[in-house]
Amino acid sequence: MSSSSPPDPAATTAPGAGNTGPSSSAPAPEVRPAFSLGGQQGTPSYSQLLQDIKTGRVESLELSPGQRLVTATFKDGKTRQVPIFSDNQQLLRTAEQAKVPLSVRDERRDDAMAGLVTNGLLVILLIAGLTLLVRRSAQVANKALGFGRSQPRLQEEGAIAVRFEDVAGITEAKEELQEVVTFLRTPERFTSIGARIPKGVLLVGPPGTGKTLLARAIAGEAGVPFFSMAATEFVEMFVGVGASRVRDLFRKAKAKAPCIIFIDEIDAVGRQRGAGIGGGNDEREQTLNQLLTEMDGFEDNSGVILLAATNRLDVLDTALLRPGRFDRRISVDLPDRAGREEILSVHARTRPLAAEVSLADWARRTPGFSGADLANLLNEAAILTARRQKSQVDDQAIGDALERITMGLAAAPLQDSAKKRLIAYHEIGHALLTTLVPHADKLDKVTLLPRAGGVGGFARTMPDEDILDSGLISKAYLRARLVVALGGRAAEIVVFGPSEVTQGASSDLQLVRRICRDMVLRYGFSSLGPLALEEEGEEVFLGRDWIRSSPHTSVRTGNRIDEQVRKLAVEALEKAVAVLTPRRELIDELVNRLIELETIDGDSFRSLVETYEERGSAVAAQTGGKADVEAAQVGV
Ligand code: ADP
Ligand code: ZN
Repeated sequence: MSSSSPPDPAATTAPGAGNTGPSSSAPAPEVRPAFSLGGQQGTPSYSQLLQDIKTGRVESLELSPGQRLVTATFKDGKTRQVPIFSDNQQLLRTAEQAKVPLSVRDERRDDAMAGLVTNGLLVILLIAGLTLLVRRSAQVANKALGFGRSQPRLQEEGAIAVRFEDVAGITEAKEELQEVVTFLRTPERFTSIGARIPKGVLLVGPPGTGKTLLARAIAGEAGVPFFSMAATEFVEMFVGVGASRVRDLFRKAKAKAPCIIFIDEIDAVGRQRGAGIGGGNDEREQTLNQLLTEMDGFEDNSGVILLAATNRLDVLDTALLRPGRFDRRISVDLPDRAGREEILSVHARTRPLAAEVSLADWARRTPGFSGADLANLLNEAAILTARRQKSQVDDQAIGDALERITMGLAAAPLQDSAKKRLIAYHEIGHALLTTLVPHADKLDKVTLLPRAGGVGGFARTMPDEDILDSGLISKAYLRARLVVALGGRAAEIVVFGPSEVTQGASSDLQLVRRICRDMVLRYGFSSLGPLALEEEGEEVFLGRDWIRSSPHTSVRTGNRIDEQVRKLAVEALEKAVAVLTPRRELIDELVNRLIELETIDGDSFRSLVETYEERGSAVAAQTGGKADVEAAQVGV
């Protein structure tokens, strides 16, 4: 269940995180997650599907053994194709246990052999499916090369009824994409003044937050055709098929320009080439190369706009993110309380609600829900209402539906509890330090919303634009970052005592290690002197770290490096504790506020802190004491 080596959280959000600086300690927008809730980070969509089946979200399944695909139809009407392994016992068993009907696609006629399949039959079908797979692979190859199936789904202009008003709770993303709509409608306005519209827009965010919906809304608003395909559909078992599908897709799209191409789950083809362990995948690389070629091949302003969605910005090949390709990234986050209320009202438009129902209350009770979850909630409630032969969806129905949905969720959204308080203290620790410590990044927001990655909450910071632009990192800046990174652990120490600290800070500690090592080994920021003990760019991606040897250092130097690294970290923790200790009252206040609101944005947070600090210094001035004021000016 646990995912191996979690990706650098700093790289998962926010524009520019991947390639702004020479190393991980370069300024980059950053999310500091805490407290793994045993979630789904990096889970391949196969296990996600199993989870969805178990939690009753899947309506039916259709197996296509020849393509090694299973098509899942979800209760919310969505379908998704997921590649399966040849040994899909697990899938069959899970489907059987959850009583989800499963059918097998008869590929000779290429239509579905529908029907419910019950217990004993499942095994026979599996064997039949596998036999089919082996026997017909040659035939399939021929057909596949001629694009036998998996055509891009095309919706003609006018066919798309989705509008921006159907997408709620993600205002920023909508605003950014408004421009694309304007361009598709009146390209002359841009071309006449020589403006270049991005050809590729990457929507980054957890599943179900409305990325597909947003892409369709753009096509709907602009009245242009919409081509969509999941990247998993490109990747076939025969080398070359994916690439030719990409070519085919772009050829068709160009003929229909202006139009939109939407590629879902682009990480399925867009993973870093030749990195990591276990070698590459020829088919995937060819497909990716073809995609890059196609993107370079169509001219600016040709009217084809490529939108792609992913949950894993960190694993994407950097070539995809270069200018002229997916050079615009828009993050689509899980909605906060206000956003959830908006989304609920969008989905309540077609469903008669009883007068008693307060969507604001339901938004309060659904922390961590994505747009898709909320849509599902109201849909389930409507189903229950129909079953009870009532004409209006009431609180009872929504409550029962909520129960049904959350009971099964792997990482249940946190309700108020001791654990939630602990996470709140931890995150407030980060947020407060980044606000108080000079040179530190600016707080963007602090939140207790659990993320799809199985994270209980986070404090997100934004680097100073000057630092970002200049690319110059000062020693003071890095020391401030260390203090902030250790802020979560420090808060736990201050509030709960040194023996009560939790493992929730483990990803913070990894960040600390990286920063400290960079300071000592690469930037000469320690008493070891102005020496780079490591070449630039040596440390890049996953596996490479493992096979690297350190030719520049002797054992003795190695020991001294470790010593310096430890010293930096210990000093930073001491500093963090020193800043937090005199502010216990403020910390409690902020924690209560955070638990109430779930999210506090940077500006509100800063003004809360400012008010408190002013109060503190007024008291100090009256009593003649200066302790608090001095503590506010901790230098780092
Ligand atoms: P993603 O592509 O991010 O995984 P989708 O766009 O497929 O998510 O969302 C699935 C469904 O959930 C949508 O069709 C819509 O009904 C609902 N939904 C998701 N996000 C939103 C939103 N922001 N506003 C309204 N409905 C939403
Ligand atoms: Zn933390």
